[in-house]
Amino acid sequence: MGRKCSVCNIEGHTARNCPASEDERRRAKLPAPTKIHITIDKKLCGAEPEDWPPQWLEDEMAQTLPVCEECAVLYQELTGRTIVWPRVPLENNSNSEA
Ligand SMILES: [Zn+2]
Ligand SMILES: [Zn+2]
Repeated sequence: MGRKCSVCNIEGHTARNCPASEDERRRAKLPAPTKIHITIDKKLCGAEPEDWPPQWLEDEMAQTLPVCEECAVLYQELTGRTIVWPRVPLENNSNSEA
């Protein structure tokens, strides 16, 4: 466990030699998301697009979030299936239905 950079929250360097761009720095300061919306073309519940801090874009982190309840209900109405969340790890997911 190394120290995390205070700018981008990534281990292995410090704020002094942080390679993050302006945009990455801005995103790193965003509040952590509280739930994950289901997106089919757009977010099902109509939520505004949101910027996530980069560390939350990793599946590992994203999968710790609960699914937006509204989105889950709408997803079921739309597809007839319940949302599977957290997602099955990719290596176990052999069907290539896209
Ligand atoms: Zn950094
Ligand atoms: Zn939602």
